[in-house]
Amino acid sequence: MTLIAILDDRVTNRNIFSRLAGTLEDGAEVRTFGDPREALENLARADPDLVITDFKMPHMDGAEFTRRFRDLPNGADVPVIVITVYEDRGFRLRALEAGATDFLQSPVDHQEFITRARNLLKLSKQQRLIKSRALSLEHELAVSEHSRQALLRDSRERLAQVIDTIPAMISATDEAGAYIFVNAYQAHFSGVDPEQCVGSDAAAAFGPAYAARSRALDRLVFEGGEALPAYEEEIIDRAGMPRVFLTTKSPLRDAGNQVVSVLTSAIDITERKHAESRLRHIAHHDQLTQLPNRLLLQQRLQRELARNRRGGRQFALHFIDLDRFKDINDALGHQLGDQLLHAVAGRLRHAVRESDTVARLGGDEFAILQADLREAEDASALARQVIEALSQPFGIEGQTLTLSASVGITLYPADGNALDELLRNADLAMYRAKADGGAAFRFYCADMNQSVREAIRLDADLRQGIAQDQFVLHFQPQVNVETGRIVGMEALLRWQRPGIGLVKPGEFLPIAEETGLIVPINAWVLREACRQGRAWRDRGLMPLRLAINLSPVQFRRQNVFDLVLEVLQETGFDANFLELELTETILMENAETSVRTLRALQELGVTFAIDDFGTGYSSLSYVKNFPVDRLKIDQSFVRNLKTDPSDTAIVRAIINLGHSLGIEVVAEGVETREQFTQLAAEGCDEVQGYLFGPPLIAADFEALIGKGHTLPYLA
Ligand code: C2E
Ligand code: MG
Ligand code: MG
Repeated sequence: MTLIAILDDRVTNRNIFSRLAGTLEDGAEVRTFGDPREALENLARADPDLVITDFKMPHMDGAEFTRRFRDLPNGADVPVIVITVYEDRGFRLRALEAGATDFLQSPVDHQEFITRARNLLKLSKQQRLIKSRALSLEHELAVSEHSRQALLRDSRERLAQVIDTIPAMISATDEAGAYIFVNAYQAHFSGVDPEQCVGSDAAAAFGPAYAARSRALDRLVFEGGEALPAYEEEIIDRAGMPRVFLTTKSPLRDAGNQVVSVLTSAIDITERKHAESRLRHIAHHDQLTQLPNRLLLQQRLQRELARNRRGGRQFALHFIDLDRFKDINDALGHQLGDQLLHAVAGRLRHAVRESDTVARLGGDEFAILQADLREAEDASALARQVIEALSQPFGIEGQTLTLSASVGITLYPADGNALDELLRNADLAMYRAKADGGAAFRFYCADMNQSVREAIRLDADLRQGIAQDQFVLHFQPQVNVETGRIVGMEALLRWQRPGIGLVKPGEFLPIAEETGLIVPINAWVLREACRQGRAWRDRGLMPLRLAINLSPVQFRRQNVFDLVLEVLQETGFDANFLELELTETILMENAETSVRTLRALQELGVTFAIDDFGTGYSSLSYVKNFPVDRLKIDQSFVRNLKTDPSDTAIVRAIINLGHSLGIEVVAEGVETREQFTQLAAEGCDEVQGYLFGPPLIAADFEALIGKGHTLPYLA
């Protein structure tokens, strides 16, 4: 509210002025005083907007009053009008000096009084407003500065807390390499208190080597003014364990943009590194055998390629595949199969040098990267060693297992200079070794591509052959030496391959055995032979022994007893006329099961011949332990009977062995009369060969035996 003060010692004047002042503003308060001392006292506690004072008053004049009023704390800026009757310049000057704002001449012109008073009042109010604005602004500023400081203090504290809780070592160092700040994590990790650290370098916490390295890097930051790229470093913790940290260093600047210290933060990535290396190990190793896997082999090959391109050295890549592992795996169960693979891995590792890499490519496929080869002979030596190592019996959970392996070898740079090419060619060579019967190694040669492609086509065609019934049986007579009579026949398989013609078993059996196709094929053979045999008997042809060849794969994959029984029942062929030709491999592998099967079949009346005798292990124990009725001397011994004295000796030995055990002996592949005479002289019981008749189709064989069973020219 507006307050106007009027000071005059005369009542009339006070009344006039107070009335005039009352018109200046609605609701304004007008206070009148007769005594300047009273006025000063009162106004010291009020806040007037305008003061109007008489000049001539008792006790003190208007100038003195003005001066004193101005000295009041709130009197400095209030307009003061002095009313003066004196035309005297001296009075006015005194009033001005005392701080008067304006003058009014007495007797006062009312209009002038009002105008001057109003103007001054307005001015006073404006000033007051400005002042109050400034004041409040000042106040606001003061408040905000205060809270800003508080906030800063607060956030600094909080920041320090946060930095202490960050699971990373954070520190700041000055230009001399001394710590300015060390967070709690770092203190805990190093076991050195921040108080001890601050002011000295990192040596106390992490040793002199670390301190020197850290300082050198700090200097880079100081000089370059830029953060360093994150780097990994090993730091020993308080327990003496090495940990891996990912460290960054960046500059801290002052207000003038000068680098004043270096902030170092180091995150412990040890676990991550462990996890990474575990992952890397998993990614690069086979989980079953812990051998390097294909990926790692490829990397090592790549490295070897890079080295050798410069050095002009050579290396070999061996591709190793276990022969018929699938059968073993199926028979044993996968758990034992896995143990076997594990054992194989161990043998392979033993067979190589430290600098070579043994890898498992998957399944039963392994590879060896043989580094620093001097000559190709080194590679064949290693392959031979590998085959030998794997051919030693394995003892798995009380069982004795035998294996063989096929190895394909490529040489760098002779057989290729790219990774894929080398692997592919080694694979081809392995395939060749396998197709040749396995348990062997082959070096890659250029025409293998062709032969392997053929083998793959052969497999596809064979499958089609089974589906489309493209097989036929030929029958070859077996003749009694003494009587010259046909006493039996051997059923031999032929394949009418579309576009090629009649194919002999030698050309497709190895593949069929490798892929297992032999199982359905041979089941067909057995069924077809028995069907034919039964048909001949029904037509009154004299009963003859019917021999059928069995494959080792069948014994591994099939219940042979069940098959034979089923076929006999189905065809009604008399078991007493069925002879099964076995190989020594069948008897050797899984001897116990085989002997049980054979005994059971023997009960049915089935007889057994050991085929190609003399080419395998020719072990007496088979002959003794198995129910063997006949030994078939392999044709390779018969062929050179006349010319090779050692063959004569072998043939004689086999015949004697058989006879001493009560077993008949048959000679295969008899082509000449000389051979026949000699065999007869040695006491051989039966003969089979082109001399007496080639394998014939059923109709021709029927015609042959229809003539009677004696071959005319032998009689
Ligand atoms: P193998 O059981 O030793 O059969 C005798 C082989 O000698 C037959 O060859 C036969 O044609 C041939 N041969 C017969 N007489 C003579 C001769 O005077 N001189 C010569 N040089 N060879 C003669 P093939 O038919 O090619 O059979 C080869 C092998 O294939 C057989 O040898 C046998 O191990 C196997 N095989 C044949 N048929 C089957 C079958 O149905 N199943 C199984 N698993 N193997 C079979
Ligand atoms: Mg045979
Ligand atoms: Mg034979």
